[in-house]
Amino acid sequence: MIDLLGIIYPVRCPVCDRILRFGGDKICASCYHQLEYVREPCCKKCGKQILKQEEEYCFDCGKKNHAYEKGIALLQNKGAGKKSIYAVKYHNKREYVDFYTDELVKRYKKEITSWKADMLVPVPLHHKKKITRGFNQADTIAVGLGRKLGIPVRKHVLKRVINTRPQKELDDTLRKKNLEKAFIVSKNVVELKRIILVDDIYTTGSTIDACAGVLKQAGADRVYYISLGIGSGY
Ligand SMILES: [Zn+2]
Ligand SMILES: [Zn+2]
Repeated sequence: MIDLLGIIYPVRCPVCDRILRFGGDKICASCYHQLEYVREPCCKKCGKQILKQEEEYCFDCGKKNHAYEKGIALLQNKGAGKKSIYAVKYHNKREYVDFYTDELVKRYKKEITSWKADMLVPVPLHHKKKITRGFNQADTIAVGLGRKLGIPVRKHVLKRVINTRPQKELDDTLRKKNLEKAFIVSKNVVELKRIILVDDIYTTGSTIDACAGVLKQAGADRVYYISLGIGSGY
């Protein structure tokens, strides 16, 4: 039988974008080795790779309190991985996400399951940004993870009411200010106690903190996060 799906939607390598053999690996072997995965030792709060085994937290988490409980990130946001995650976000390469969600599940299923989450909530984009971009990459990641982990995805729990400026242009204090009023809880989540936020990149954590903060005000008990990439900070 002709494999129509494989013809209509060829699987492409998330790093070099070459078409891969249908039913085979979801990445080229050589590209796989270019990805820099987050490895132990990791910060016990944000999940960032740190230098010393004896340290509990990264430099950032040692200084500030986060509104969320704990998080996991798959890749260090540099090199081939950074380029690939950027392509998901800005060049509509949604198909790459399938490989990354597979990897997240393969590496972290046990820990994620131990969080006993009621739902996955993607970090929302402002509707204007979503219209320009055509999709929210966090939705795509959450849907992939939800399907593979058997956790429901709730896209409309959080709403981004202020179209914030790109975060990379701002310093830490400004990011926080910028985000404090950007999110609202649009659905009643009182009955849903444990939430995993999903995003593509974790930078300073201010976006995740802002989301976790409003969710907790609305009655959420524990909030975690999962992202594809994370900066390194020792
Ligand atoms: Zn490749
Ligand atoms: Zn940390």
